[in-house]
Amino acid sequence: MPKNENGEIKCVNHPEQTMNRFDGEAAFIRAELADNGNYDLNEEKLITVYVHCCPICGYIESYLVPSIESTSLIQ
Ligand SMILES: [Zn+2]
Repeated sequence: MPKNENGEIKCVNHPEQTMNRFDGEAAFIRAELADNGNYDLNEEKLITVYVHCCPICGYIESYLVPSIESTSLIQ
C-alpha cells in the first residue's frame, strides 16, 4: 500500500496498522540466469532499500533508498 495522505505506511492486510521500519537498510542482489539453469548472484549489482514490516501478519514492503543511481534501474 502506498503511503497514506499523512505519509504513514500502512499494511495492505491491516489498513489501520502502521508498519514498523527495520533499522538501517537492506539490499536486493541481482540474480542472473546462468547457462546451466541456475542463478548466479551478482553482488556488484544491487539496490538498497528501506524495509517495513507489519507486526501482525509479517507483510513486508520495501522502498528504494533515494540516493541510488538511476542507471541501476530499468526504465
Ligand atoms: Zn498486516
